[in-house]
Amino acid sequence: MRGLMQEWPLLVHTFIDHANIHHGEREIVTRRVEGDIHRTNYSEIYSRAKRFSKALQKLGVMQGEVIGTLAWNTYRHLESWYGITGMGAIYHTLNPRLFTEQLEYIINHAENQYIISDTTFVKLLEGIEKNIPNVKGFIFLTDKENMPDTKLKNSLSFEELIDAEDEDFDWVRVDENDACGLCYTSGTTGNPKGVLYSHRSNVLHTLAANSADAMGISSTDSVLPVVPMFHANAWGISFSAPMVGCKVVMPGMNMDGESIYQLLTDEKVTFTAAVPTVWLMLLQYLEENDLKLPYLNRVAIGGSAVPKMMLEKFEKDYEVSVMHAWGMTEMSPLGTIGAFKSGMEDLSFEEQINIKLKQGRATYMVEMKITNDEGNELPWNGKDFGHLLVRGPFIASKYIKGEGGQILDNQGFFDTGDVATIDELGFMQITDRSKDVIKSGGEWISSIELENAAVGHEEISEAAVIGISHPKWDERPLLICVPVEGKTPSKEDVLEYLKEKVAKWWMPDDVVFVEEIPHTATGKIQKITLREQFSDYSLPTT
Ligand code: ADP
Repeated sequence: MRGLMQEWPLLVHTFIDHANIHHGEREIVTRRVEGDIHRTNYSEIYSRAKRFSKALQKLGVMQGEVIGTLAWNTYRHLESWYGITGMGAIYHTLNPRLFTEQLEYIINHAENQYIISDTTFVKLLEGIEKNIPNVKGFIFLTDKENMPDTKLKNSLSFEELIDAEDEDFDWVRVDENDACGLCYTSGTTGNPKGVLYSHRSNVLHTLAANSADAMGISSTDSVLPVVPMFHANAWGISFSAPMVGCKVVMPGMNMDGESIYQLLTDEKVTFTAAVPTVWLMLLQYLEENDLKLPYLNRVAIGGSAVPKMMLEKFEKDYEVSVMHAWGMTEMSPLGTIGAFKSGMEDLSFEEQINIKLKQGRATYMVEMKITNDEGNELPWNGKDFGHLLVRGPFIASKYIKGEGGQILDNQGFFDTGDVATIDELGFMQITDRSKDVIKSGGEWISSIELENAAVGHEEISEAAVIGISHPKWDERPLLICVPVEGKTPSKEDVLEYLKEKVAKWWMPDDVVFVEEIPHTATGKIQKITLREQFSDYSLPTT
């Protein structure tokens, strides 16, 4: 027997509809690329998104077509998303930090019809235009006065398009399983692969991500998504913010410590989210200028592991609660987040920090398992580590156009490429990427754990560990460090420091110092490049 409830498709326009009715006056503040601070509200965003839907239809954009967005976090970028999805098209976020060949590849592969862009990217687009011949035109997120002087074909102003329309538009009622958004993974090996979110998966992810034990934002919060909309949907905040009607503060293109501090303080931000690199810059700025964070309550940190030092500083020096989160583009992106379980609030500070260093517990609708190389499940004891696999309704089942082939195991689990432990209470801890784990004498050494231990040394600002081939052990760890500016730590000194922190057989066989460690477009250490750089390196132990 079927249930007798109303059929109400899970479509993302319902978020902005709700915000318009119940929180219409709530502010959206943006540091615009033009430099000024701009203020609008949910009702305006709703109205302008409808007008933009109409404008897209007039341009001939059809339901199911893909529109690229190459833009910072701003109110206009948000309006463009709701305008695109509201008329049944698909937003495709383009990460401006990708190499131009990768950008060209994903624009062509996804068959972008138009590209919506901030004016800051006009040169970038001019440089690649000849290689993206199927793009029909470019819509710049600005008004007529600020339109760039460019020869790009069909350059249009977003404000002019909106001004020409009224808001008398009914959202197109697509199927909830229809595609809604597209984001390519940065593809450290091979070409980037497209993850195609549906309306339904975005709505379910928003509900899960915004439950009280996850991000749990509410109408009274002032939320600053520093994490870009082009990085896995700004971790869903573009949807969860209108769902609850919180104030939103959009940072535009400036993510340095001073700019972020100003917004946090001037706009009384209570919740914010970004990768560790952003918080390193902020903490440094706060320390140099002897500043505090009087309004901020919670900071969600993910994308790579939160360093212990960062956790301690936020919690102790600034009284800001850190929510350590883990996820990936293929997961919409949130998989786990480190909310305490009952009783943990009574633990000592040190014990609490050790829990928060883990990547956290699975959110509702994310199932996890860890397996060995043979695919057998490992126990949740906090010690055994293995391949981390996940399944759920907002996790990819395939990549666009079938790239990468079959990506699920016979139980429907997706291999995250991460290696992790899960403890008795369900807290997961990443110990490595499967391709980075160091295989020494048949055992696994976690490169991440070694890196975390190394950056605890006060003269080391960043560290990376890679496996170097070894005649006896197969691989042994090499520690690559960037010293703190002005410091010259010695190899002996670093090894002596690590002795106390890691098992004897995990100790790096050598330490080298470099000025810089290469990073990917999403801010992660680029181990492939490091492995190439050190391909001829021979360890003193061989
Ligand atoms: P990319 O395109 O760079 O792969 P993703 O954001 O999809 O971008 O990257 C997902 C990966 O980032 C995860 O599989 C994991 O390796 C890493 N990651 C994300 N969050 C964390 C975290 N909190 N701690 C450690 N690693 C993380």
